[in-house]
Amino acid sequence: MTGGKKFDVAICGGGVGGLICALALSKYPDIHVDIYEAARTFTELGAGIGIWPRTRKIMKTLGLEEDIQRVLNAPREGEPTPVFTYRKSDQSEGFEFFQMVTPGGLLMLHRADFQQILLKHISQVVKTHTSKRLCSYSQPSSPSPITLSFEDGSTATCNVLIGADGIRSSARASLIRDLSARATATNDKVALGRMVEPTWSGCIAWRSLIPVEKLRAADPTHHAITQPTQYLGKDAYILVYPISQGRMINFVAFQVRHDLEGTVFPGHWVTPNGSKEDFVGAYKGWEPEVQTLLKCVEKPLRWAIHTAKHLPSLVSGRVVIIGDAAHAMTPHQGSGAGQAIEDAYLLATLLGHPSTTLQTIPLALSAYDAVRRPEARRVAEISIENGKMFTFHLDEYQHLERLGPEVEKEKLREMAGRFIKNWQWSWMGEIGGDIERAVRMFEVAVRR
Ligand SMILES: Cc1cc2nc3c(=O)[nH]c(=O)nc-3n(C[C@H](O)[C@H](O)[C@H](O)COP(=O)(O)OP(=O)(O)OC[C@H]3O[C@@H](n4cnc5c(N)ncnc54)[C@H](O)[C@@H]3O)c2cc1C
Repeated sequence: MTGGKKFDVAICGGGVGGLICALALSKYPDIHVDIYEAARTFTELGAGIGIWPRTRKIMKTLGLEEDIQRVLNAPREGEPTPVFTYRKSDQSEGFEFFQMVTPGGLLMLHRADFQQILLKHISQVVKTHTSKRLCSYSQPSSPSPITLSFEDGSTATCNVLIGADGIRSSARASLIRDLSARATATNDKVALGRMVEPTWSGCIAWRSLIPVEKLRAADPTHHAITQPTQYLGKDAYILVYPISQGRMINFVAFQVRHDLEGTVFPGHWVTPNGSKEDFVGAYKGWEPEVQTLLKCVEKPLRWAIHTAKHLPSLVSGRVVIIGDAAHAMTPHQGSGAGQAIEDAYLLATLLGHPSTTLQTIPLALSAYDAVRRPEARRVAEISIENGKMFTFHLDEYQHLERLGPEVEKEKLREMAGRFIKNWQWSWMGEIGGDIERAVRMFEVAVRR
């Protein structure tokens, strides 16, 4: 290699995970980075995104804090801040049963603002290529480069491929083929073959942005104007929070058919300009605040929530997958993007390690896999449990209204205690410990 360059990294996919990875890698002048994005421009579908303190710390390390403060009144780090108010809403008179207050709260961003901040911070030396949809890769034995094949017939080469191409990842499909080719038992090959396609979670999300003035005109005292709120009920819930300095309300209505989890979703996964008539029926009889929100929603985006199956490895040689490509999860922890950011940052740290060379890349990627795969799986599992609690589907929280008002409230408070327990990792923890563990693993492997 000339000019002090250690190796070339190709990142396929310019979503949250891909952009954070490029940003983190651009700290290392000896690593050359290309991003290949399938879309004609870098775009994020208009909606909100919540970022927890654990992820915020990474963004601060990457120098993004000042710009984040510019687009929202971010809560002070560590300061007890109200996050969500929880209401039992599937009845004519709903009631608040819990207010979640957490250290440092939640950053509630407009996705487009967040993406602009990331793009602004990515170094000019990172080359970006749009309209480049990865179809597959071929990976000869090292040191020969990996060849990427794109839908437009073009090809490119790299020494490391990072697949950050989302839930329908082509990198993931090729990686599974690699794993399958190396598997010896027929059963393992069959099991791997079944892991290519994501699974429908049984959940549909209807997403929309409501101008706050519209909501204020409908009900000047509506809680959602100032207060992030979750309206919970049987088999469905609604999440709202203000974004864009309070000018817009991010609205997501979830409907969950737990019995359909794992079946094939009949239709397009993402449908813009949906009809509100297709989903309001699920909230019939819910409290007036919910009815007001539904009246204000226009042209919602219908999103059938799919998840990735748990793979035995996120790595094959010099190829690695991150974010939704690796472990797309349900959104009931608001943590999919946070997990993509953790993947990207930890992976970049390993690739930037002084001992990572063309020869040791697979060892660095193995350390990433060993630390990040179980952690993302744990978060995915908690997210499923949250989804069940939010829709009163866990056995112990079904039909609470039959227990009488006092016991119902007591049970709801108990359930809220589980929300806190499930979420604590996202404000208590730091990624530093995981990075140390991964770096140590890598250094030991290099010395062997
Ligand atoms: C309703 C809902 C609410 C959510 N709320 C939150 C939240 O509050 N907080 C949170 O942390 N997470 C949240 N998530 C999850 C979060 O949106 C995702 O986990 C996150 O966007 C994943 O980032 P990613 O970069 O891995 O993938 P993506 O954001 O999907 O990006 C993938 C990129 O790759 C490109 N691409 C696709 N195929 C190819 C290809 N073959 N070649 C090249 N490029 C390709 C795409 O165009 C895209 O730009 C939510 C998800 C949903 C559905």
